[in-house]
Amino acid sequence: MELVLFGPPGAGKGTQAKRLTSMLRAPQISTGDLMRAERQLGTELGKKFDSFMSQGQLVPDDLVLTLFRERLAQPDAKSGAIFDGYPRTIPQAEALDRMLAETGRKVDHVVSIEVALDEMIERVVFRRSCESCGQIYHLKYNPPPSPDLCSCGGKLVQRADDTEEVVRKRNDEYLAKTAPLLDYYTPRGLVRPINGVGSLDEVTSRIEKAIGLKG
Ligand SMILES: [Zn+2]
Repeated sequence: MELVLFGPPGAGKGTQAKRLTSMLRAPQISTGDLMRAERQLGTELGKKFDSFMSQGQLVPDDLVLTLFRERLAQPDAKSGAIFDGYPRTIPQAEALDRMLAETGRKVDHVVSIEVALDEMIERVVFRRSCESCGQIYHLKYNPPPSPDLCSCGGKLVQRADDTEEVVRKRNDEYLAKTAPLLDYYTPRGLVRPINGVGSLDEVTSRIEKAIGLKG
C-alpha cells in the first residue's frame, strides 16, 4: 500500500508516520532523510545532491525520483511505502505517479491530518519547557507546580517561536502549499481527511479506518 501523508507542523504527523510504518510494515520515505544518507555514504547520487545543495539550489525532481526508485526496490518497501514530505508540488505528484506506475504501483491513499488553527495555537502558546531538565508542560492540560517553576525547581521558559503569530504563519504556508495537491488527489478519490485532535491512539485508529485496515 502506497500512502502519502500530509499534516501541518505540530499536528503529530511524524509520530503517526512512525506508527503507520509498523502497522503497514512499510518504511517511511522522507526525501530529507534519504538525501542525507546518500551524502553521508558518499554515493554517486549523494555527490550530485551535494553539488546542488552546496550551491543553495533545489535538487531536481528526477534525481529525487532516482532515489525513490532505488529505495522502493529494497525488500522492506516491496509491499508499500509511506511518503512523508513529498510530493510538495503538482509536477512532483505527477512524477511520483509515473515512477510508481513503472512497477505497477500507485498511490492508494492520501492521508491528510487536520487540526483546526485555534487548536494548534492553544497547543503551542501554553507550552512551557524547563531550562534545567527539559520537561515540557502545557499550562492548561499538563500544568507545572507553578506557572514559571518546574517540579525539579528549574525555571520554565516559552520557546521564542511558540507564539500565535508563528503558528498562524506556518499554518498559512502549509495550507497554501497543500491546497493544490489536495485538488490534484481529490478528483482521483484518494484523499482521506483525518481529524487530528485527540489522543495518539484515537488519531491512529481514525487513520486505520480511513485506509480500510479496520472496519
Ligand atoms: Zn525541570
